[in-house]
Amino acid sequence: MNNRQLFLSHLAQTTDFPLLIEIEKAEGVFLYGPKGEKYMDLIAGIGVSNIGHRHPKVLAAIHDQLDKYLHLMVYGEYVQQPQTLLAQALVNTLPPELDNVYLVNSGSEAIEGALKLAKRYNNRREIISCTDAYHGSSHGALSIGGNEVFKRAYRPLLPGIRNIAYGVEDQLSFITTETAAIILETVQGEAGIRVADKNYFRALREKCNQTGTLLILDEVQAGFGRTGKFWAFEHFGIQPDILVCAKGMGGGMPIGAFISSKKIMDVFKENPLLGHITTFGGHPVSAAASLATIKAIIEENLVEQVEEKAELFKSLLKHPKIKEIRNKGLMMAVAFDSFDVLKPIIDRCIDGGVITDWFLYCDNAMRIAPPLTISNEEIRLACKCILQAIDEE
Ligand code: PMP
Repeated sequence: MNNRQLFLSHLAQTTDFPLLIEIEKAEGVFLYGPKGEKYMDLIAGIGVSNIGHRHPKVLAAIHDQLDKYLHLMVYGEYVQQPQTLLAQALVNTLPPELDNVYLVNSGSEAIEGALKLAKRYNNRREIISCTDAYHGSSHGALSIGGNEVFKRAYRPLLPGIRNIAYGVEDQLSFITTETAAIILETVQGEAGIRVADKNYFRALREKCNQTGTLLILDEVQAGFGRTGKFWAFEHFGIQPDILVCAKGMGGGMPIGAFISSKKIMDVFKENPLLGHITTFGGHPVSAAASLATIKAIIEENLVEQVEEKAELFKSLLKHPKIKEIRNKGLMMAVAFDSFDVLKPIIDRCIDGGVITDWFLYCDNAMRIAPPLTISNEEIRLACKCILQAIDEE
């Protein structure tokens, strides 16, 4: 059997129509297939490879760590330098109140930890989340998801969850002194890039302050420079009580975190209740890669270039079949009339060497979230391929 047949036979499938692109090597914004195929990765592995694939600084940090140790102990017992330096580097990017970092393995796990922390700290049971939200695929994360179609088969889910409309100020009245936390994506990703305005975020912060409700912002997709600020909440002049991140954090290695104040986080260490236990959370190799990722983002001024690159995409992607482009920095959705219009365009782009995608809850929009390292020349090439694919359809 060849690799493709093995993939279809023995790897559990997630969809009836996987992209089925075979990759042998990746570098920068490019992926390479076994027969010399070359693809530009315009989705960065779904918002992961913000600094490009196999960034030299990340590779060096991984190699260095491989020579020292791999897993040593469950998270939170031994003093491991990759974890301590990573926590320090993360805290340095954040407002002073967000000074305590809990390292985990993934976005979903970080979400689980953040929800548990809010319940425990506030000793309240209700969680509010938003319509069209995507926070992950584990039971807790699914329970706060905002799309009924994806939840239906898995009920009963967590009780005590109320869904309110994202970005609608009137709905903030549902936040009461019973509410442990409200959780939302600063910029909604899988909804097809939706972003609430500054007034909404200000009112939200105010309401949380009044009611003692913790504000949890999910920046699993929007963090690490993707939107043109290191953290997306910086656009809105507010800050969360708990910040959730993953994806771009590891520069291609699996790692996530929920970050809060020491005061809030310390409730997890009060015995005899368990807080959040994770065997591999903050794996030393991933932590070393993450530290190198943060350094690369800062040293290469990647965040500062995002807006200009996004504008270049928008200026080039003009076509009567493109109905709208929604974006916050390089988190972009290019909307067409329907999935039936979009899908053949995506297929043609792949044939032409450009990988794009659609969104979980928004299948009429093309996902564009390239490595932030993409050059203007590469943006021009990508847009040329997309426009050609549209014309040929
Ligand atoms: N939150 C958001 C906003 C996400 O986009 C995702 C993943 N697409 C997650 C959480 C879950 O992350 P993971 O797949 O690493 O569990």
